[in-house]
Amino acid sequence: MRWSQMFAPTLRDDPAEADAPSHRLLLRAGYVRQLTAGHYSLLPLAVRVRAKIIQIVREEMDAIGAQEMLLPAMHPAEPWRRSGRWDLMGQEMFRLKDRRGADHALGMTHEEIFATVARELSSYRRLPQQWYQFQTKFRDEPRPKGGLMRTREFTMKDAYSFDLDRPGLDASFDAYHGAYTRIFERLGVPALPCDASSGTMGGSGSTEFMCPSEVGEDFVVHCPNCGYAANIERATSVLPAASDGPGLPAPERFDTPGVRTIEDLLAYDAPGDRQVKTLVYVLDGALTLVLLRGDHPLNEQKLVDATGTAEIRAAEPDEIQAALGALPGSLGAVGVSLPVIADEALRGRRDMFTGANADDTHLRGVDVERDIEVGRWADLREVASGERCVRCGERLEIQRAIEVGHIFKLGDRYARALGVEVLDPDGRRVPVIMGSYGIGIERAMAAIVETHNDERGIVWPLSVAPFQVAVVVAQSDDAEVTEAAEDVYAGLRAAGVETVIDDRAERAGVKFRDVELTGIPFRVTIGRRGLAEGVAEVTTRATGDTEKIALDAVVGRVR
Ligand code: ATP
Ligand code: MG
Ligand code: MG
Ligand code: MG
Repeated sequence: MRWSQMFAPTLRDDPAEADAPSHRLLLRAGYVRQLTAGHYSLLPLAVRVRAKIIQIVREEMDAIGAQEMLLPAMHPAEPWRRSGRWDLMGQEMFRLKDRRGADHALGMTHEEIFATVARELSSYRRLPQQWYQFQTKFRDEPRPKGGLMRTREFTMKDAYSFDLDRPGLDASFDAYHGAYTRIFERLGVPALPCDASSGTMGGSGSTEFMCPSEVGEDFVVHCPNCGYAANIERATSVLPAASDGPGLPAPERFDTPGVRTIEDLLAYDAPGDRQVKTLVYVLDGALTLVLLRGDHPLNEQKLVDATGTAEIRAAEPDEIQAALGALPGSLGAVGVSLPVIADEALRGRRDMFTGANADDTHLRGVDVERDIEVGRWADLREVASGERCVRCGERLEIQRAIEVGHIFKLGDRYARALGVEVLDPDGRRVPVIMGSYGIGIERAMAAIVETHNDERGIVWPLSVAPFQVAVVVAQSDDAEVTEAAEDVYAGLRAAGVETVIDDRAERAGVKFRDVELTGIPFRVTIGRRGLAEGVAEVTTRATGDTEKIALDAVVGRVR
């Protein structure tokens, strides 16, 4: 590739609209442009990085025996109605009608659709199966954020496992867990597997892969000693027993004095200027959260389904009621008016806070034992850091993180709803046991940039860099320099090294700045000074170190 022909519109100054570093850098370095909030055009450099990420994910999926498929991005309503999620997904689901008036959705995830394909499995002999795809997902996020981090249209690698029984699911889940660990290692993302289920949740396990970052919207507690990690939003302590039947059951316990009913809860004015009113539900033994609005940056109504795949945002309590009514199974509930979501790690202290959001100034927490109120992130960190790990007793740390991947044990919920049954070895028809496993591809790209940058720009790990090498022609008006640079460029390409040659009629300083900004791992500078000695200057982006390398040894140095 020739830089003179490449469309990489770098910007001199920081774009004003960018919030997170990855957003700022991907805009500045000419990787992305915003079409409208939550929708980005990926320019050539970003497409190259995306392809690298996809290939790494693909290799690790294939290595555990998963088969790549491609299912439609647009879905008829029917399978979503059968699972109950047509209503559950609420406003986050983009919906449309075709010319006959039939309802359709733009897929926000694909459990239902893969399940329709899985109906053909018919016998236990065809199990287990592992299927995956890279497909665009659409989610009407209330607050698209951070450039590629939270968009309304993004590529997900979503995978689904189909097993005969729970031990089979456990084995599949472990295989994905291992694959995810390798994927994030290869991507250079320091992802922490976080327990997103508590010990009381029976078979329904869920692990989030969390990349520590100050711009992350999630919070995790982490024990540096034994490695225990959990999402403070997800993990919870023992909740009251389930009540039967559909509809919104009254919580069996409220954690706020004076609050006895859901109406009380809605009317409750927590001290301070910001609040979240939270109802925590348990659906068939697994955690469901409902956040009811308050005057709060998190003032969205969010119902996280037991599987974690369903999220609804309903504007009004009766919409939430209707959505809950559509849930199969039974619900148990506890209502709290401050975000009192105790972590498993803080078990025994479940009246401890924790409510958190990505905005530093609006964290609130209360500890009704100790009568502490924390208002700021730093306070929250301090208090939570004083807590002890339930596993080993060491002090916990709390950090912000970006959710880069999420794996779930789904059980038989979708199989039952959509009729995915096989004959077991005794000839009985049984529902297959499913798992689902997601990675956001562009969010992973953003997470890599968040964790790999300096004041000069992006610093890509070699594994995902758009080009491994940029050959810089220091004096493009010098025929001898140009010829030597073209030779080195040809040699690198012949050796299979992805290389761009900066042949623009620009000053060397401008070219250096662009190579640094775009994050290409090696810069090979060919200039008059070096040529006099028969060398190129090879600069490593990550360290800034420059070495003089004989022209014919350049290929060996950068490989
Ligand atoms: P979040 O909590 O950040 O909203 P999620 O829990 O809704 O994410 P999942 O349904 O678990 O997301 O989807 C699997 C993965 O897809 C996530 O771990 C994340 O990497 C990615 N992802 C989810 N929503 C978005 C989005 N709006 N933009 C980009 N990537 C996303
Ligand atoms: Mg979400
Ligand atoms: Mg999440
Ligand atoms: Mg998730």
